Amino acid sequence: MNLVIIGSGPAGLSAAIAAARGGAAVTIVEQLDKPALKLLASGGGRCNLTNLLARDEFMRAFGRRGGFMRPALDAMDAQGLRNMLEGLNVPTESPDGVHVYPASNRSKDVLAALLTECDRLNARLMLATRAREVVVHDGRVEALQTSNGVLRADALLIATGGRGYPQLGGGESGYGLARGTGHRIIEPKPALVGLVTRETWPGACAGVSLNDAEIAINAKGASRRRGAILFTHKGVSGPAVLDISGDISELLAKHAPAKVEVRLKLTLDDERAWLARLDEARRSHGKKTLGGLLSEAIPARLGRTVCDLAGADWAARCAHLGAVEAKRIAAVLSGAPLTVTGTEGWPSAMVTRGGVDLAQVDPKTLESRLVRGLYFAGEIVDLDGPSGGFNLQWAFSSGWLAGLAVSNNCG
Ligand SMILES: Cc1cc2nc3c(=O)[nH]c(=O)nc-3n(C[C@H](O)[C@H](O)[C@H](O)COP(=O)(O)OP(=O)(O)OC[C@H]3O[C@@H](n4cnc5c(N)ncnc54)[C@H](O)[C@@H]3O)c2cc1C
Repeated sequence: MNLVIIGSGPAGLSAAIAAARGGAAVTIVEQLDKPALKLLASGGGRCNLTNLLARDEFMRAFGRRGGFMRPALDAMDAQGLRNMLEGLNVPTESPDGVHVYPASNRSKDVLAALLTECDRLNARLMLATRAREVVVHDGRVEALQTSNGVLRADALLIATGGRGYPQLGGGESGYGLARGTGHRIIEPKPALVGLVTRETWPGACAGVSLNDAEIAINAKGASRRRGAILFTHKGVSGPAVLDISGDISELLAKHAPAKVEVRLKLTLDDERAWLARLDEARRSHGKKTLGGLLSEAIPARLGRTVCDLAGADWAARCAHLGAVEAKRIAAVLSGAPLTVTGTEGWPSAMVTRGGVDLAQVDPKTLESRLVRGLYFAGEIVDLDGPSGGFNLQWAFSSGWLAGLAVSNNCG
């Protein structure tokens, strides 16, 4: 059985190992002159491989389509991934009891181990080779046309990743290959990406971060995320914002003109709690300035901006705080309104929302329902998770399952 894999990311390498161990002859084609650049960059170079959430919670984090992952997680869950890496002399650890990293904290150790194993299994890696067209005959994969000639294939895996970070190999060619074989692509949108706001005040706070805040889309039943938020020159970013950005991307694509109203809770106190706090300050700490009071809860630069937005005087004593002013301040602190007009776009989108329609892929094998011998794994399909090890686990698990499925046909 001759397996050609397009893409040397975690999905492609994981598939190569599973298939080659099962007896397949594997060739990996990679368009760049270095393999797996996203894996190397992941987790800021530390590589947040996975996390220790329970299976159902893990799948729920991927939204409505999360259940599609079950067979892949059966094939390789977080412990399975850790065991596989341990077997390649890459021990892992979870310093916070949730997120899992290589014990060395170096993604390059993970990549080196995967490549060494591919080499040991005689899986051939063709760098600087771009896949151009999948050749299908009688509803079955036959070959792959590449920039370096034609490769015959009994089975072919498209593991080309998503559109984000073009400098690390992101692009649209995988969608073109899938379309060319009759597959439907759910429109790709940037996810895990910073947001651009119409308001300019976040820019005045650029660099300021809040450890525990909340961002919510302003619509009944719409999503909200709690966590760290970072103000940027263009708007907002940070883990809570990144995690909600895919939902916002989808809404932006639907709305014309593109805008989504959100609210930021700058601390976890609600409006009532803030009103009580301001009232207490007015009565018992009247000499304190409003700025001094706010600085106890949020960074001073943001406190000044809150006062500006609420039309209050940062330097005024709490004793002089009027009821209307207090209400305006409490309202900003518990729900500062922002109008999101866009995302920072593909150059900084860590994952892609959208991709190959899951309805056309069999979750038990990841084989196409349209073309025999054609498989999909990793970010190319219409599944994306939040930050925190979700997307790498999916890439490894789905690659592993596809590799096993191919090797089951060997012999
Ligand atoms: C900066 C950054 C940090 C991240 N950190 C984390 C993290 O800590 N934890 C986490 O879970 N996720 C993280 N992610 C997301 C994670 O890296 C991806 O979801 C994952 O790499 C997807 O794996 P993949 O194998 O599907 O695709 P990729 O890793 O994108 O690999 C696809 C490969 O296919 C190649 N390719 C594409 N088209 C062709 C073609 N036509 N011919 C030949 N080759 C082609 C590409 O060059 C690329 O090397 C991060 C992403 C980024 C960008």
